[in-house]
Amino acid sequence: MARDITERKKNEERFIKAKEEAEAANRAKSEFLANMSHEIRTPVNGINGMIDLTLATDLNPEQRDNLETAKICANSLLALISDILDFSKIEARKLVVENINFDMHDLVEKNSKVHTLRASKKRLQLTYDLDPSIPKYLIGDPNRLRQVLNNLVDNAIKFTDTGKISVTLNNVLKTDQDIELKFAVQDTGIGISEEDQTFLFKTFTQVDSSITRKYGGTGLGLAISKQLVELMGGTMGVSSQKGRGSTFYFPIKFKIGKLSETVPFLRPDISPMIRPLHILLAEDDKVSQVFLRRMLKERGHQVDTADNGLEVLDLFKKKKYDLILMDIQMPVMDGIEATKNIRESEGGRTHTPIIAVSAYALQGDEQRFLAMGMDSYLAKPIDINDLMKKIGSVGQNRQEFPDKVELGDHGEIIFTSKSENKDTEHYTSVMQEIEHCIKELDDHFESMQYEAIESIANRLKNLCNQIEADELKFCAFKIELARRKNNIGDEIEYFSLFKEAYYVFKKSFQKVT
Ligand code: ADP
Repeated sequence: MARDITERKKNEERFIKAKEEAEAANRAKSEFLANMSHEIRTPVNGINGMIDLTLATDLNPEQRDNLETAKICANSLLALISDILDFSKIEARKLVVENINFDMHDLVEKNSKVHTLRASKKRLQLTYDLDPSIPKYLIGDPNRLRQVLNNLVDNAIKFTDTGKISVTLNNVLKTDQDIELKFAVQDTGIGISEEDQTFLFKTFTQVDSSITRKYGGTGLGLAISKQLVELMGGTMGVSSQKGRGSTFYFPIKFKIGKLSETVPFLRPDISPMIRPLHILLAEDDKVSQVFLRRMLKERGHQVDTADNGLEVLDLFKKKKYDLILMDIQMPVMDGIEATKNIRESEGGRTHTPIIAVSAYALQGDEQRFLAMGMDSYLAKPIDINDLMKKIGSVGQNRQEFPDKVELGDHGEIIFTSKSENKDTEHYTSVMQEIEHCIKELDDHFESMQYEAIESIANRLKNLCNQIEADELKFCAFKIELARRKNNIGDEIEYFSLFKEAYYVFKKSFQKVT
């Protein structure tokens, strides 16, 4: 049999070529996005850090107010970048929804906590109502579901001035294996006219251009939410009347999950290690370098800096470090190359913990960096509390034994080194931080914002421990406990006791030095 297949072969080749070109274009787009996020996040990171630093100094109320506004702007810029990234990932079909076992009741409960404060500030009633017949465990994507709910509740609070917002989850149809739920977020806000409803869910659309001025926002949230709901197999709908309020709703089907068979191992919450470390900070961006260096020094760590990978290797040969913070994108030699060199020279005999720091925020980055010999990963812009937690957790692998190991009130391990703690500079900087916490607590008590008090009191307790002020530490712990029991009277009492005791302590310290 003879048939001329030249044309078919040519077509196949053309098809393969077109496919390869399309794939290359797609890769280029992802890369462009990653680069763009890097370029934008780095300076915003610097802005945020400098604002935080300045906020920690003495300011008059107007200056504080201005800086706080600047911080809100910087944060909304970051939110916008992450929205754009999300949207582009959906466009490029890079976003996949997960199917994992999760606790729906817990998700709803936590979600309500996130928004309560903001709603109560506007004196709005916020209720969550979950049909009790909905099984606790379902299979789906809890993170994306949370993102959609957050966006709808955020909008509802934003566009409502009086009345209430209710979130409901109804069981529409249930079989042995599946369940269909209807989610609805209803508000009594400004509403949307029928005509305007046709523009909703389109990118960068806001019903009224004056809205941006009054309420802020980008007009991306609903477009992303709609697409996420579709990826989860549902459809988003809205019913609304101008001036009376809106309801956004979507049905989604879930497979019914099961109670996880293995009982989760409850790890005690180990607070960050307190012992001062010798840290090598590798970062080419000067603003980030200054910010991180100051933040680390304020917490008592000793910091050397390097502008690129070669300098890292140079310093690494000369000195011994407890930890390296390694920026990935650096000139001359990047962080990946430098890490490879360090691991080779250690040859498995020693292991210096390395935390990778990168402005790339694409999925899968963390795993890539861990596979390359790093111990942990942090995305820029760096949240200073996250950094401290990471330092605490990787730093615990230290070989040497600290001078003193104590068990804290919650079973957390506290390392202290008497000799190092005696150093005046360290004491002074811890005391500055204590005073900063006192100020924060003052503000929170005054504005009756009780939520953050527990964590600030906990920070105070750890700080007092660093300067071996046991009485103060006990007092801070009492504030923390009172908050947990929601006993406002006790909180206030222990806080004023704390302040008194602290100022006595400060005076006695000044006499000694
Ligand atoms: P953003 O809120 O960031 O502007 P969204 O995509 O979330 O973007 O919303 C787009 C627009 O839809 C909003 O600007 C607003 O005009 C309108 N909108 C959204 N939710 C509501 C709501 N609950 N009540 C009234 N208008 C709303």
